[in-house]
Amino acid sequence: MIVVLRKGASQATIDRVVRRIEELGLKAHIIVGTERTVVAAVGDERHRSREALESIDDVEKVVPILAPYKVASKEARSEPTVVKVLDLVIGGGNVGVIAGPCSVESEAQILESAQKVKAAGARGLRGGAFKPRTSPYSFQGMKEEGLKLLAAAREVTGLAIVTEVMTPQHVDLICQYTDILQIGARNMQNYHLLQAVGETRTPVLLKRGPSATIEEFLLAAEYILDQGNAQVILCERGVRTFENHTRFTLPLATVPYLHQRTHLPVVVDPSHGTGIASLVPSMSAASIAAGADGLIIEVHPDPSQAMSDGSQSLTPAAFQEMMDLCRRVAGAMGVTMA
Ligand code: PEP
Ligand code: MN
Repeated sequence: MIVVLRKGASQATIDRVVRRIEELGLKAHIIVGTERTVVAAVGDERHRSREALESIDDVEKVVPILAPYKVASKEARSEPTVVKVLDLVIGGGNVGVIAGPCSVESEAQILESAQKVKAAGARGLRGGAFKPRTSPYSFQGMKEEGLKLLAAAREVTGLAIVTEVMTPQHVDLICQYTDILQIGARNMQNYHLLQAVGETRTPVLLKRGPSATIEEFLLAAEYILDQGNAQVILCERGVRTFENHTRFTLPLATVPYLHQRTHLPVVVDPSHGTGIASLVPSMSAASIAAGADGLIIEVHPDPSQAMSDGSQSLTPAAFQEMMDLCRRVAGAMGVTMA
């Protein structure tokens, strides 16, 4: 349930509410809004506990939460969560664009990618250093060396770094280099990994599992939020269906649907969602028209030479063109895009 405090409620009141919630065997999450503070009480909601909280001075009302994802739900927080790292702003009427190669391959490749995507208007640089590959014989990533190259690219360009973490053992290492931790689609339900990134205060880009329902997706986000990390970005990257003309099927109704259910920002990955570079610009524009708070796009200086996902990667020139199209759509939608 959500305990809504009156405007201007004191810290002592907040402390009292938190104490009472804990005495009732529930977990308290304080959510500070611009208008007022609310405290989410998570756990087994019994009738008695609601009354015990309602009687505290300066508690305006106690609202039961119906959604199983409590902290992620719109009931817990009506204002949108905005994730801001360096110049990358995702949410709250800002469309933030993250772009770069699927994998970090060399110093020259990541630097050229960073400079070109920045010139086109991206404010985040993506690049995998630890790669989840379907085959154990495929390129697995440059690992820590790749992380160092990403950090060097940030030094030169000021772009915020987004890179994937695949195991709880790597969380500390990757946090030393990255600005945003990416949880890949294959790991969306790796609950120990979700808890491990939830314990950090580094923002998390959580990709939807290819066979996950929206409820499962939001409950995965809840694992991160429940550890106290409020900076979660949801990413629709396509789901697996009977259809095989594209690599995955990219359902853009996810975007407005999630906006109705959660305050978390939603970005779209049309590169993995389609698997075909020529489809990426249209699906990017459509994502913004559907209300996406950001895009994550694969761009490679020479897609034909890419060590992973070349066929879905845009050239820097195609990315520039895509950004011009997206800016026009953003303008029509009344949202800001760098
Ligand atoms: C990626 O971003 O390169 C990636 C592996 O994505 P996903 O987890 O969505 O497949
Ligand atoms: Mn990829």
